[in-house]
Amino acid sequence: MSCVSKAIGLAKKVKHSFDVIIKASTPVYLSSVRRIERVATDEKICAMTFDDGPFGLPANPDKESKPLTLLLAETLEKYGAKGTFDVIGDTSGNYPDSAGKEGTAKWGGIAYDHYPDINRDSFGGCKNQPQLLRRLIDGGHEITNHTYSHVLFGKKPIIYGARVTHKGIDDVIADLMRLHSLLYDEYGYEMKLSRPPHYVDKISGGFSSYDAYAACGYQYMAASFDGAGWLPKKSYDDEVLAMTEPVKSKLETDENFFCGQIIFQKDGCNMLRRTPVADGLGAQLKLLTDKGYKIVSVSELIENSPFADIKPSDELFCYAKKALENGFDICYRDNTVRKNEILTRGEAVMMLYGKEGDGERLSLIKDKRNVAKDVKFSHPYSGAMKLALENLAISKIENRFKADMPIGDGDFSKLLSVYFNKDITLSFGEITHGEAIKIIAEQI
Ligand SMILES: [Zn+2]
Repeated sequence: MSCVSKAIGLAKKVKHSFDVIIKASTPVYLSSVRRIERVATDEKICAMTFDDGPFGLPANPDKESKPLTLLLAETLEKYGAKGTFDVIGDTSGNYPDSAGKEGTAKWGGIAYDHYPDINRDSFGGCKNQPQLLRRLIDGGHEITNHTYSHVLFGKKPIIYGARVTHKGIDDVIADLMRLHSLLYDEYGYEMKLSRPPHYVDKISGGFSSYDAYAACGYQYMAASFDGAGWLPKKSYDDEVLAMTEPVKSKLETDENFFCGQIIFQKDGCNMLRRTPVADGLGAQLKLLTDKGYKIVSVSELIENSPFADIKPSDELFCYAKKALENGFDICYRDNTVRKNEILTRGEAVMMLYGKEGDGERLSLIKDKRNVAKDVKFSHPYSGAMKLALENLAISKIENRFKADMPIGDGDFSKLLSVYFNKDITLSFGEITHGEAIKIIAEQI
């Protein structure tokens, strides 16, 4: 491994440990946008995602002179697998720019990203490679939205400090919808999932990728296993090995390791302009299918098992799936249900009015309008709380919302009665999320 790639590897590791600390100290909220990393299942199914394509240049080393995307699609199909291609629109608008040092994160541009490479933008993206996009759709692979221009949603100082970013949430939504419209208008294809460029979530003005995805009706597609290949090694063969060895050793230790996992790959070059995925993918697929795995699209994986913490065998599963499919915000941002947590006033309101409240919340933030003495406009449930108060489904307590207070039986009965427009009377001391979800599902 070169010094540069070691440094990047270390930076990622340091960043990862920061993420763990941040995660532990940040409250996680119920959300209509769920960040899907891995789903809970005992079935041997998993998904593979391919970022940054379509890629119209030949794979390197060039064995068959085929565009890389076509080679990946054919390799997947050979193993009966469906890929999830997280595509971009076009990066040719990302100039002026110049290439950074090969082997670093800036290899393809200092101010922006360029796919498949700087000054060769016309060989990549859905706008420029319609035949590859058509081939993927015809092959039954899933297409997801990796944004039109691959411009970062907001600032990311550690690795991408010199990057030009979107100015605010309106630009982010416009960029996402530009690609959405291209797919919908020209192919009749409706994308449902998106992954932010370089996983940058923060958007200037107090927004995040969750707000943008809520506005677009998307779920946040993350990944739980790094398929590797994107980091440069000494040789191409070492890079292919870096893709296959971890899969092999994980399967040797635990045959069920990949159940419900989403594997990250690239439909593109690594930082040394090589594409080890061209050989690594087939080897990974062989290892997985030999152990009985079926590789499905991410949407199929979620359809099979939508949650991170409830398996299809769980008693609550059918109720939770029904509630989710009917638009109730019963999941946390990290796609967990946490069925044994005690339901609070804020969460009860969010479960029912969350989806409708997303638009309200954007307006509250833009106008800097608070909902109650103790609820700022930026609160994740502010929109839902505003709607519930307006509908007289819940009342303030001494002018405060008291979102973190466990909800009482009287308040929850009133909330459900107003929402479902019928008399519902419940009696309990405290109610868990699991119990509340069951009650909601029974009303649908
Ligand atoms: Zn990307």
